[in-house]
Amino acid sequence: MLSWVAKLSLPVERFKKHMGFSAHHSIMSKRSNTDLLSLPPEDLARALEKHFRQRDQPTYRIDQVRRWLYEGLSGSIDEMTDLPMSERDALKDSFILTELEEARVEVSQDGTVKHLWCLSDGEFIESVLIPTRKRLTLCISSQAGCAMGCTFCATGWGGFQRQLTTGEIVSQYSASRRWAEHHLGTTISNIVYMGMGEPLSNRKAVHDSLSILNQGYAVGARRITVSTVGVVPGILELAERPEQFRLALSLHAPISELRLSLIPLEKRHPLPEVLSALKRFNQSGGKRITFEYTMIRGVNDALELIAPLVELARSVEAYVNLIPFNPIPYQNWEPSELHRIKNFAKNLNKHGVPAAIRETRGRDIDAACGQLKAHALVQLEKPRQS
Ligand code: SF4
Repeated sequence: MLSWVAKLSLPVERFKKHMGFSAHHSIMSKRSNTDLLSLPPEDLARALEKHFRQRDQPTYRIDQVRRWLYEGLSGSIDEMTDLPMSERDALKDSFILTELEEARVEVSQDGTVKHLWCLSDGEFIESVLIPTRKRLTLCISSQAGCAMGCTFCATGWGGFQRQLTTGEIVSQYSASRRWAEHHLGTTISNIVYMGMGEPLSNRKAVHDSLSILNQGYAVGARRITVSTVGVVPGILELAERPEQFRLALSLHAPISELRLSLIPLEKRHPLPEVLSALKRFNQSGGKRITFEYTMIRGVNDALELIAPLVELARSVEAYVNLIPFNPIPYQNWEPSELHRIKNFAKNLNKHGVPAAIRETRGRDIDAACGQLKAHALVQLEKPRQS
């Protein structure tokens, strides 16, 4: 396990300034080109087939590019060194390959690794690598910022900037896997869409990224979890997919009135509606549901909430993760006391609901959703009150 905390690799302010100039030019020159990382594997094969056919190239060129993307984790077309230089140049004329700039990387005492990435237009997103005894889980972002405004979440306080492209979602995986293989000597086993943003509000890009990670990079569907605060049309769409991707509902309160004070989306998609979508998901075969329940002292940890939580979980056979609240810059809340969290877990288990207390990881590097960006920018901007 790593026992050091890495330092800022490039100060955020300097990075922003730098990117403000160069990003404009790279975007303008490449806007019309298709991103190789944004194409689901079948579409990629078709696009490459057409490209190489027009250039009278043999069909094995398609596999060469696919190997560089999915096995070589290529960060640029220039790295595809078994293609002749002329073919690399031709690829660059027709395609782009999304690259993330590493603005900051921090490694926690407990081995959790948080990346702050800068996108080509100067926006920032985060991803987190979480090592446990048997797994290395990557938590990725689906949007720059988030419009959902959940009151317990640093990203929610920062507001929404924009949707991520498929390539920007996928490249968090390829760049993080490269980093993990180089620095940790291991690879990523699981992926959770629990970083910045609401994945099911960016459905096209997220669905395509799921196909690419599963069919291209060969990450098993059961090792990929999509998290949502309850975007019902998105849950129903995910239920229709044949792959057994997992779903995590950010529940945080088992009754609507309380949930509304934490998650504004509860007004548009109230719990009963979310529950019926979850039932459909649960019935669609072999797909597991998890409830995420962040425990905030004096807010959602009253003992009376255990009974409705049990009822909800049993109705969709959900597993419950109890997560001690990770304090954020703009909220004075504190995590529930450990004995209270244990009592919740014990009672859930007693009533036949599998529940676990999720260890808080990377506290020393602000590893909860949106916190690295929040802390990095908090000296630069005043928090928005929403
Ligand atoms: S918890 Fe998720 S959906 Fe809610 S504001 Fe944070 S990132 Fe957005």
